[in-house]
Amino acid sequence: MDKSGYDPERFRRQGHALVDQLADYLERATTRAPMPVLPWAEPAARLLDWPSDFSAEPSGSLPELMARVLEQSNHLHHPRYVGHQVTAPLPMAALCELAAALLNNGMAVYEMGPVSTAMERNVIAWLGGQLGFPPGCDGVLTSGGSAGNLTGLLAARQTKAGFDAWNEGAHGGPPLAVLASAETHYCVKRAVQVMGWGAGGVQTVPVDAQFRLRPEALPDALAAAARAGRKVIGVVASAGSTSTGAFDPFEPIADFCAAHDLWLHVDGAHGASAVLSPRYKPTLRGIERADSVAWDMHKMMMMPALVTAVLFRDGKHSYAALAQEAAYLFNTDEPWSDSAKRTLECTKRMMSLKVYAGLKLCGTRLFAEYIDYTFDLARRFAARLTAADDFELAIEPDCNIVCFRYAPPGTAASDELQRRVRRRVVESGAFYLVQTTLPRGVYLRVTLINPLTTDADLDALLDAVRAAAAD
Ligand SMILES: *Cc1c(COP(=O)(O)O)cnc(C)c1O
Repeated sequence: MDKSGYDPERFRRQGHALVDQLADYLERATTRAPMPVLPWAEPAARLLDWPSDFSAEPSGSLPELMARVLEQSNHLHHPRYVGHQVTAPLPMAALCELAAALLNNGMAVYEMGPVSTAMERNVIAWLGGQLGFPPGCDGVLTSGGSAGNLTGLLAARQTKAGFDAWNEGAHGGPPLAVLASAETHYCVKRAVQVMGWGAGGVQTVPVDAQFRLRPEALPDALAAAARAGRKVIGVVASAGSTSTGAFDPFEPIADFCAAHDLWLHVDGAHGASAVLSPRYKPTLRGIERADSVAWDMHKMMMMPALVTAVLFRDGKHSYAALAQEAAYLFNTDEPWSDSAKRTLECTKRMMSLKVYAGLKLCGTRLFAEYIDYTFDLARRFAARLTAADDFELAIEPDCNIVCFRYAPPGTAASDELQRRVRRRVVESGAFYLVQTTLPRGVYLRVTLINPLTTDADLDALLDAVRAAAAD
């Protein structure tokens, strides 16, 4: 076997060259150099760019391969990236990822990741404190909001079902359900279906005109689930719904849960980070009463994907989710230290490293300022949309997600127009934005998640939409 792949000098050379290449890329992306935000290609065409024509002998070079990767990727650091809810990661955090990948201390058990295990425990305690959880809170880091919500709901089931669903199976008791609004991310329904509750496992609660769950509708939803023969174990509320970024009212939802002995899970994948901002923390009033919270740091904490915290107000519940015994793996003296006891993952990335380093080295104020900047930017953008006579704002934004339509006077804001305009703007490479469907039709949708995006960029976005429509 050729072992030169482990040669430190080769790594040093390749690493220096790669960092230079990435820094040049970052400079182009962040300074609005002429480059498309998303270099558009149909999926089938892109497939042909990356054939699996691997040969037995080494071929090509890392800089050449990387140059093509950089060129064809979606450029999240470009200030005109205003698309889905994935952040422009802090470059320093990306360097931590490189170190984590090289060390490959995959956790599962303490001995396989001593540093990342210690960092994870202390980062979790800090995040719990930020939410307003008491000192006994606990939790884990996991691979994304979907996995985080499933983990929280598994604990909810084990705690509230009234039977041991983990060991007896989903059929060991009555069919279960959670209450959630239709604005809830699809992964909540998926989690429920993974647990074997079927499509009826989510009982829908209506929302108000701001797309926030209507707490006064909870009793009816509870009764409807009971009529369908289901035992409701909890409510899932959103801290930042995906479509419009709506924050559900946690205080009255928590009151309802307390009155009916229900678990409150908050899907804070997008918006839990707002607790870090003294200014926006009040938007999350009541989140400290949740039993569990899922919180993505690759959205509103400038971290590279993936890293999600699942936090439990009562730390012991973090052991209820996934109660697997594995004598060959787990140490029982310090149950917290073997992270795989409580996560879907066995081996997982050293995901605590980038979070710990980010908080330690950048200081916590940076994260508050990031929330303030992006949320304020969205409010100013909403005001501009309201002032413009050719645009329609869907709702005043709760966070940094804004939905709007192009509706020049005298014309109908047709769904087809929104779709066509979006496609043209995206294909032109000028901006990357997305779309969503609300009760009144198709809307353009932006998430202002890149802190380099400015008001001037958003003015240019409106002009790009106008030009695309005129075209
Ligand atoms: C993004 C998001 C998810 C999914 O999280 P991933 O990290 O992409 O798996 C779930 N819920 C909400 C509210 C989200 O915004």
